[in-house]
Amino acid sequence: MAAPSLARYKRIVIKIGSALLVDRGSGLKQAWLDAMCADIAGLKAKGVDVLVVSSGAIAMGRTVLDLPSGALKLEESQAAAAVGQIALARAWTHSLSHDNIVAGQILLTLGDTEERRRYLNARATINQLLKLGAVPIINENDTVATTEIRYGDNDRLAARVATMTGADLLVLLSDIDGLYTAPPHLDPEARFLDTIAAITPEIEAMAGGAASELSRGGMRTKIDAGKIATGAGCAMIIASGKPEHPLRAIEDGARCSLFAASGTPVTARKTWIAGQLQPAGSLHVDAGAVTALATGKSLLPAGVRSVVGQFERGDTVAIIGPEGREIARGLASYDAVEARQITGRKSGEIEAILGYAGRAAMVHRDDMVTTILRVQEEKDATHA
Ligand code: GLU
Repeated sequence: MAAPSLARYKRIVIKIGSALLVDRGSGLKQAWLDAMCADIAGLKAKGVDVLVVSSGAIAMGRTVLDLPSGALKLEESQAAAAVGQIALARAWTHSLSHDNIVAGQILLTLGDTEERRRYLNARATINQLLKLGAVPIINENDTVATTEIRYGDNDRLAARVATMTGADLLVLLSDIDGLYTAPPHLDPEARFLDTIAAITPEIEAMAGGAASELSRGGMRTKIDAGKIATGAGCAMIIASGKPEHPLRAIEDGARCSLFAASGTPVTARKTWIAGQLQPAGSLHVDAGAVTALATGKSLLPAGVRSVVGQFERGDTVAIIGPEGREIARGLASYDAVEARQITGRKSGEIEAILGYAGRAAMVHRDDMVTTILRVQEEKDATHA
């Protein structure tokens, strides 16, 4: 693969893993951060918008607070993040200022990207920062994140930020230089993959569960991030952040894995639907519905076999084919209780069953993103 030129992208989200920024003994890796900021300044000088998703709040906080190694309790990691995030923000502000770049801090909670109104609000703030020439420094708001309500890893958070802001490249920098066919430390036969045209089930299977002590994300969350980003037309690079000037290193030909963006542009609203991290429920449909959806039709109650989960009208639901694979995602026109009542019934019967004339479709095609085509390609690839 030819070395990717980063300056040909318009808007790049760079995710930086904790271990790159923070040393457990000595704290902030100042020289590395300064070199990173010089790389960012270089991209900005070429007209590229740069956003940073910086991990390291918890790692930094536990160093400052001198907490013992090992797993932290929830309230300990929240406290560590409170201490570490200030230090992290200060470090970014200081290092970027060497190149006269202003940093702006954005701390997100899960609801800020999963609830549409809050999503639009967060997006507007980030876009305004970019318009003003600042570099948004983004992290999860770990001081209020709880086990149930959090992204938990900055790989997927960064992918959500990339799709939210219409970025065309997401760069994940960590201690892993890319995707291998198997975990390289366990399998001597493992091959490195420099280009990934589509995230097929085989590619997904290659992602082990490994995560280092300082960070939560392993290859699993990186592939999940890739699905979110590439599905919204944003390419993704996984590269090692270990060298000083890691962005320059990518351009100079350092080994990395490039995941191609999927070709079909979708509307911003559909991007939001497709990237939802946790659909509220699922609709299991029959083969006839799969065919209808593949040709761009809406999902009618007649094609639904069962409804799983509790959801409100307007929540995102996954649409699952007879083989158990997700084939589409969309906004439910009915809540779960009503959806169950009209499951398998003709649209003309809805009024008699529910007592009012609702929408004919369980999920309207304008509110739906299908993944069927990709599923078909994946099947072809699997059987080739
Ligand atoms: N948000 C966490 C932190 O700043 C890091 C999450 C991750 O490592 O992916 O400490």
